[in-house]
Amino acid sequence: MAFRTRFAPSPTGPLHLGHAFSALTAYDAAQAAGGSFHLRLDDIDQSRARPEWAAQICDDLHWLGLSWPAPVWRQSDRLPRYRAALERLWRRGLLYPCTCTRRDIQAAANAPQEGAPRFGPDGLIYPGTCRNRPRSGPMPQDQALRLDMKKAMQAIGEAAFHEETYYPGPRAVTARQMIDSVGDVVLARRDMGAAYHLAIVVDDADQEISHVIRGQDLFDATAIHVVLQHLLDFPTPRYHHHRLIRDASGKRLAKRDDARAIALYRSEGKRPADLRAMVGLPPASASV
Ligand code: GLU
Ligand code: ZN
Repeated sequence: MAFRTRFAPSPTGPLHLGHAFSALTAYDAAQAAGGSFHLRLDDIDQSRARPEWAAQICDDLHWLGLSWPAPVWRQSDRLPRYRAALERLWRRGLLYPCTCTRRDIQAAANAPQEGAPRFGPDGLIYPGTCRNRPRSGPMPQDQALRLDMKKAMQAIGEAAFHEETYYPGPRAVTARQMIDSVGDVVLARRDMGAAYHLAIVVDDADQEISHVIRGQDLFDATAIHVVLQHLLDFPTPRYHHHRLIRDASGKRLAKRDDARAIALYRSEGKRPADLRAMVGLPPASASV
């Protein structure tokens, strides 16, 4: 199978050192394997995505020495694909509409009979308030849709989590864990028609991505993505979760830390090789 990997930033802010590390790691891996590297723009959240950020991201990545084939895929162009995947899950009774607000979820999770509120990869674990709402008839178009994780796990079984899928290997992902510690994740947001987990899985499958190289912060999300791949009969790529770049105090870099934006290092006269060294990567293969 051809080695195809991607870097999929959200154009909602500047790229920082952590992004540079992620993009360079994926790019270097593609070069080493004689494969291809693709840039994809995760702009499904149109309330936050900005064309200026997309332009800046491309410019910073070019400056770092990366290149990718055109056209660049944008999630905002792909909503019909996401809705088609959602329809398949809907017809199997695996989704249900949810009208809870953040506040409703907080209140339900804090109810005394619920015990201490629990958190999963997407924040508070959904307490299941809407789980019994009807799942028949046409798929609701203007409501959030959640995956019934219990039904999903019954449909695919635990064997879905292969050790060789992940690097580093899964910390024993079980059906129980998915139900209790991840729960009924949102696959379609009311305002966007799809949500991150669903969109990324459809994109990786349609773009025939063989290797997903991304940060350890997404390790728990990967299990959700593997579940979706099984439900949708998509192949599961190999996942490599790389270390995270932290600031001097050990805090993970976030987009709001503009001080560490690549653009700022550029304006200070740093070279791509300096940035590679700063994140602990060897020099670009073309320059050695
Ligand atoms: N847009 C996502 C991010 O920047 C993509 C993550 C991924 O699935 O690789 O976190
Ligand atoms: Zn709900």
